[in-house]
Amino acid sequence: MKKLLLSLPVFLVSLFATATPDEGMWIPILIEKYNIKLMQEKGFKLSAEDIYSVNKACMKDAVVIFGGGCTGELISPDGLLITNHHCGYGTIQRLSSIENDYLANGFWAMSREEEIPAPGLSVTILKWMEDVTDRMMKGITGGMDAQERQKILDANSEDIRRKALEGTGYTARISPFYMGNQYFMLVYETFSDVRFVGAPPSSIGKFGGETDNWVWPRHTGDFSLWRVYAGTENKPARYASTNVPYKPLYHFPISLKGVQEGDFTMVFGYPGSTSQYVPSFHIDMVKNHINPKMIAIRTKKIEIMEAAMNTDPLIRLQYSAKKSGVANAWKKWIGENQGLDRMRTIEKKQAYEKRLTDWINSDPARKTRYGHLLPEYEKLYSQLKDYSLVNSFTSDAFFSSGAEAVGFARNMMSFANLFESEADEARIEAVKGELIAAAARFFKNYNYETDKELFVAVMELYGGQLEEKWQAPGYLKIKNAWKGDFQALADKIYPVSVFTDEARFTAFVNGFGKRSLKALKKDPIYNLASSTSEFISENVRGELIRIQSEIQKLNPLYMTLQMEFDSNRLFYPDANSTLRVAYGEVKGYYSKDAVYFRHYSTLKGIIEKDNPEIFDYDVPDKLKELYRTKNYGRYTQNGEVPVCFIATNHTTGGNSGSPVINAEGHLIGVNFDRAWEGVASDMAFNPEQSRNISLDIRYALFIIDKFAGAGYLLDEMTLVE
Ligand code: ASP
Repeated sequence: MKKLLLSLPVFLVSLFATATPDEGMWIPILIEKYNIKLMQEKGFKLSAEDIYSVNKACMKDAVVIFGGGCTGELISPDGLLITNHHCGYGTIQRLSSIENDYLANGFWAMSREEEIPAPGLSVTILKWMEDVTDRMMKGITGGMDAQERQKILDANSEDIRRKALEGTGYTARISPFYMGNQYFMLVYETFSDVRFVGAPPSSIGKFGGETDNWVWPRHTGDFSLWRVYAGTENKPARYASTNVPYKPLYHFPISLKGVQEGDFTMVFGYPGSTSQYVPSFHIDMVKNHINPKMIAIRTKKIEIMEAAMNTDPLIRLQYSAKKSGVANAWKKWIGENQGLDRMRTIEKKQAYEKRLTDWINSDPARKTRYGHLLPEYEKLYSQLKDYSLVNSFTSDAFFSSGAEAVGFARNMMSFANLFESEADEARIEAVKGELIAAAARFFKNYNYETDKELFVAVMELYGGQLEEKWQAPGYLKIKNAWKGDFQALADKIYPVSVFTDEARFTAFVNGFGKRSLKALKKDPIYNLASSTSEFISENVRGELIRIQSEIQKLNPLYMTLQMEFDSNRLFYPDANSTLRVAYGEVKGYYSKDAVYFRHYSTLKGIIEKDNPEIFDYDVPDKLKELYRTKNYGRYTQNGEVPVCFIATNHTTGGNSGSPVINAEGHLIGVNFDRAWEGVASDMAFNPEQSRNISLDIRYALFIIDKFAGAGYLLDEMTLVE
């Protein structure tokens, strides 16, 4: 094993001259070694040290993890940060009320005092990263079983991180790269006092809504502004009114020069996850087994939420973040399946595996070493596909924006156990308090009628889409008792359930006693929650994890095999939520035969889409006025206000909010999406059609300055004319 690991960089060194430049998400500390030459050939004017360095301030000091799953970038010496509107969406919704609806109306702090604290939101900055492969592999041998191996890896990881972090106040994560052939430690500093500075109304920030999501041409002003605050000595501190704006080591200068087709672009951010090197069985599982069913359940959920949102502004506010969450992956899966079909990815992988197999079989030593891989994968994936589907589908039906009351009822499970175990009074009272607080959060975004409809729909789908052996016994019992009539069941239980009304729930918890426990155990909503939850943890998750770890055990060797076989190729590691560099060029594409998409969109296109009848295309009057009077300021290209542009950078989920940088290292855009025809790029990048979509930074500046009248914010930025 160790020998293989050490041989890996040797492949890389010998290959970098022959790489295809636009595909790939590269490791910042290896840019110098493998990529910088190509990047410079493509037009980049700076050095690898300007991107990543531990010795001097550089771009990496201005790229952040924003919240849980997005990227953001610092754009002023006073901690001002820009990311996508959709990345701040959940937080903006939480900070909103029907009186102060920042999603509908936008928000602009007109002074630092007006910036709104956003508890729970954090910003994380990479301090350094290092290769810890040798230390991680200490004690690992080839013959180990998956569990034992994982135990050693965990212990090594713990030890390495502890030693590295001593006295720093930082946190660290060690992540596997190249399917577990290499390990890097990433050390971070996390700031938890982050304040909301501004965002356009959703009619700009989410313009085009779900209809335009994942689609080019696009006209979404997908940005929001935040500020990072620090305590004494510029260090992270919990929120305090005395905290001061964080002084970053570096912030991005902003270019007003614009983009031309063919210009160099680089995206520097945190791509979440890709599967470039998996066997065909994996793609078959995702495309043919999981995606279709997940698409079906989400189609139904979206239909119900959307119809309800169209009837009432309060429901719109309550369900907009939930619906966006459901719809985002849903639409991507649809595009992904179409792309995989069009590219014939499964067939191509199968043909590749055939060539691999022939190559393995042509040499006895290779056969001994690699011969078992593909047959074992085949067996494991044939087991994995059901467990994986059942796990995801059940969660979608019951626990994540599915039957909401059922998802909420799950919170009572540990309380019931606690009560039964006769825990002391103080503990019980504390948990009661937590439950009541959770209820307040839950019911703030709850609509009874909408949930009732969701309940009926997902209960029917769960029974209809999964084979009976994968349905929880509690569900089957209820289904049989009600002869499958979930509407009748909902009509009976929803009006009286403690899980559909905050006052009933609070009274129930406050007066909880032995009788309540009995009632709880008879409650159908609670039974659905506890039965499915127990079924998943007892009958599904264990096996799922076991099969996944068996697959993980094969992966490093499979990666090595592919590198050895394809020794003319420069390999980049799959995305794993670590900081990466993607580079390419601004470029249009043919979406279909004879249909060419230009590389940028403008304000004119927003006006063309304007339709006050359709929520997603209702252009604000102020923006129309700016267009009519051509009040564009300096934010123009060829007399028009640019809005978005596309390029060939290889990106994925998590890259949202990433800085898009030009050849001089200046910010030209904020990445937010990919174009429909190329979204299968998580499994197969298509240079002809895979395009990342970015907000043109000049549109953000135009909105801040001309639309919002918050031009003072530009004073702290470094603008390059
Ligand atoms: N829209 C994605 C995100 O939210 C970006 C992408 O998948 O291209 O991270």
